[in-house]
Amino acid sequence: MEATRCRPLVLSGPSGCGKSTMIKKLMAEFPGFFGLSVSHTTRKPRLGEVNGKDYHFVTREEMHKMIKAGEFVEHAEYATNIYGTSKRAVQSVVDKNQICLLDIDMHGVESLKLTDLNPLYFSIQAPSIKVLEQRLRLRKTENDSSLLHRIESARREIEYSKKPGVFDAIIVNDVLEDAYAKLKELIKEEIAKVQ
Ligand code: ADP
Ligand code: 5GP
Repeated sequence: MEATRCRPLVLSGPSGCGKSTMIKKLMAEFPGFFGLSVSHTTRKPRLGEVNGKDYHFVTREEMHKMIKAGEFVEHAEYATNIYGTSKRAVQSVVDKNQICLLDIDMHGVESLKLTDLNPLYFSIQAPSIKVLEQRLRLRKTENDSSLLHRIESARREIEYSKKPGVFDAIIVNDVLEDAYAKLKELIKEEIAKVQ
């Protein structure tokens, strides 16, 4: 894969911590600067999610076929579904000279560390599990079972974020504007490369 002059940015952390919210804010404030690596997933689309924009929604069969064909940089099982970053998804952002944003789980982080992509890794965290659960409930996207899976995974993601040397920074998303300002400060050198 061709190297990009801007380092990709990985946002990882428990479901409901605010990764998509921060990504949307960056893309709105800096139009054309960032490109999302649109992942493939076997999960069903949520209300308002657009195929090809939020995710490429595929069947398990299609996903397995792509995995076998070596089309992914990384892929992982999360809460009974498979998610994956395709080589094409990253390359299409690199080709536009945009900063590539990746929203991936801890297994994706582990896999990316074995590639030559050299991203900056940010762990986004909610102030507590309780707040996380409240946010997931308020988002009204999960049923009881997927909520439970996400809270269980969240505990593992929180532990993982404490592992020394994994993340370049941990951002606690309590007050959104403060967390967003912190993220912008941490990536200002990458933004300046595009400017
Ligand atoms: P993720 O992409 O990490 O799963 P989202 O960006 O979808 O998380 O955020 C989960 C929910 O919490 C959304 O409904 C979002 O609007 C809300 N949210 C995000 N950040 C905050 C915050 N700082 N305070 C309160 N609610 C927030
Ligand atoms: P959601 O279903 O809430 O959109 O995503 C669930 C989890 O899957 C989140 O932690 C998100 O970061 C992760 N995820 C989304 N896309 C990918 C991907 O391509 N690879 C990996 N490893 N995780 C992903």
